[in-house]
This record gives sequence, C-alpha cells and structure tokens, in this order.
Amino acid sequence: PRATRPTPGQAENSIRSQLARPAESHPAHAYPSTRNATMAATVFGKILIGEIPCHKIYEDAHVLAFLDINPLSYGHTLVIPKEPAETLAQLSAEAAAALGRVLPRLCRAVVAVTGVREYNVLENNGRGAHQAVAHVHFHIIPKPNSKEGLGIGWPQ
Ligand code: AMP
Repeated sequence: PRATRPTPGQAENSIRSQLARPAESHPAHAYPSTRNATMAATVFGKILIGEIPCHKIYEDAHVLAFLDINPLSYGHTLVIPKEPAETLAQLSAEAAAALGRVLPRLCRAVVAVTGVREYNVLENNGRGAHQAVAHVHFHIIPKPNSKEGLGIGWPQ
C-alpha cells in the first residue's frame, strides 16, 4: 500500500548502500537458477546452441540478435547475451557491457531498415514483469504509429 512505501530519500539511501557492497555479497551472484542455468533449458538457449533456427541479424563472441517470432511491429528484434542468465541482475558485467556496446548500433540498423525513427527498448525480468523466456533479452521494438509496436500505460 502507498502509505507504507519508503520515501524517495529512504529508497535512495537503501539502494546506494546496496551498491556499496562488494559484488560477491550480492544475492544475485549466488542465485541458484543462474548457477544451474543450462543452454537447453530455454528457447533462446536452444537458439544459441543451434537446436532451433532463428532469423539472425547480428552475432559476436558475447551477443546474438535475431528477429522476434511474434513481432509487435516490423523489425522487432531481440538481443541476447550468450551467457545463460535469467535476469539482468544475474548477468556478469562483461556480458552486460557487450550488450550495451552493440545495442545502439542495432537500434540504428533497425531504424535505417524500417524507416521508423521511434522505438522502445524493453527488457523484462520475472514472470510477473512479463518475462516469458528465462534468458535475458532486450527487445528493440519500432513504434511506427499508435496501434503497432509496444503499448505502454503508466498508472494515472
Ligand atoms: P518476453 O515477454 O520479454 O520474455 O519476450 C519473449 C519474446 O520472445 C516474445 O516477444 C516472443 O515472441 C519471443 N520469442 C519466443 N520464442 C521465440 C523464438 N523461437 N524465436 C524468436 N522469438 C521468440
């Protein structure tokens, strides 16, 4: 309930003190599903090991990008780390850096090819937050008009 929600100042202090802890003491690094995650466990892992085909648009040592099978708009692209982490908090800094490095370039390519200059970059973490595939993935979703692409509604 809103009444018990911490103030922005309390949230700021709590998050800052979490960030001050050494990386090894963060629970995400000991999260069992990361340790046990195997490639074959998710559909994206199966794509990475070649068990399932994809429309590949980019690949390097750490990252694969391919077209979404059920696009919200033409050009809807998924960008995934090769590291089998389930959520962003569980991803290594190296894998995250590799994703961050290539995301703007992929966005430019999607914009150039679709001719659509507006787009959303989305990354869901956890079922309740609309994550259907338990392998980190960034969506690049062109927003050509009010009907196609990602629909977002902030609480009023
Ligand atoms: P999310 O809800 O963020 O987990 O998004 C999962 C996305 O993966 C959805 O947009 C699906 O359409 C997409 N997807 C699921 N299976 C495949 C597949 N085999 N190839 C490409 N995209 C897929």
